[in-house]
Amino acid sequence: MKAVGVSIAKREVRLIDHPEPALVRPDEVKLRILEVGVCGTDREICEFKFGEPPAGSQHLVLGHEAVGEVIEAGTGVTTLKPGTLVVPMVRLPCAVPTCAACVAERQDFCLTDTFPEHGIRRCHGFMTEKIVEREKYLVPVTADLREVAVLVEPLTIMDKALRELDAVATRLPFVGGKRALVLGAGPVGLLGAMAFLLRGYETTVVARSPGTTPNAALTKAIGARYISSRETPVDQWGEVDVIYEAAGSPAAAFESLGALAPNGALILTGVPGAGDFLKFDAGRFVREVVLKNQLIVGTVNAGKASFTGAIASLRLMNQRWPDALRGLITSRSPLESFGSLLLEKPAGIKNVLVL
Ligand SMILES: [Zn+2]
Ligand SMILES: [Zn+2]
Repeated sequence: MKAVGVSIAKREVRLIDHPEPALVRPDEVKLRILEVGVCGTDREICEFKFGEPPAGSQHLVLGHEAVGEVIEAGTGVTTLKPGTLVVPMVRLPCAVPTCAACVAERQDFCLTDTFPEHGIRRCHGFMTEKIVEREKYLVPVTADLREVAVLVEPLTIMDKALRELDAVATRLPFVGGKRALVLGAGPVGLLGAMAFLLRGYETTVVARSPGTTPNAALTKAIGARYISSRETPVDQWGEVDVIYEAAGSPAAAFESLGALAPNGALILTGVPGAGDFLKFDAGRFVREVVLKNQLIVGTVNAGKASFTGAIASLRLMNQRWPDALRGLITSRSPLESFGSLLLEKPAGIKNVLVL
């Protein structure tokens, strides 16, 4: 089978011949991969900033945002059958028996940092023709969402963030602020803005680019406000109750705190590299956070409930903004085009490889 393989040791990214996997356990399912989204994480792995092949493998098959079709189900599989569309989960539990998070099937909160992640660390990904995965790590999606299901995984980030937000909001039942700010106008940010709008939030997207980009146009098309941080300083953004950071820029995250209302929450999802040093007034920062009862929450990956939740949200988005949702996917190319999407900085919002 063809696959996009990264060799960290040889520092190369190429189309490789990868063996077709076979069902081993009765609860396993074989998928034909249909589409795989490309994101910044993939590009950083191709820059060898991180990424780790499975033990004993020279390469890592890339890709973690996928939709596939079941083509074979093991004898113990009860909920999936050939023809079912599924989105595979990314992170799998670690093998440490004392990891309470993984024992509870919440590997997105793993305590050991030894978990495998498809296409990222210690486990092959989805930029290949077929994969085998256990039933419990596959989330079914109905055929009406076939065209946009590749967006489920990037949307799970927001679904988990909203669950975190709901959990912390229970401490403030008397505060019901519904003003949201999204930092970053990439796919994660724009999907986050749609999710806020679905919940009735007055939503603003802040990004560096001017208001003339396709991302800005899409922001306005869904009914959110767009602000270019280069053109409008933070003291003119207006006060917000929650900030969803999806830009991976620590400077932007700290700057945005200037717009956060008392009792507000800043949710960080971007993963900047090390060595991103900032000079800022730490005294003022701590004072503001304390005096305003603010919360800063980090969140990574997502559990199964967030995959199911993201699929439900995607269905609502598909009804409310069918064109804008499709507009997030700006290109579909064959697997052989991986080079221009992974090794260069491609134009567009979400680029997708088609198997
Ligand atoms: Zn991704
Ligand atoms: Zn764990």
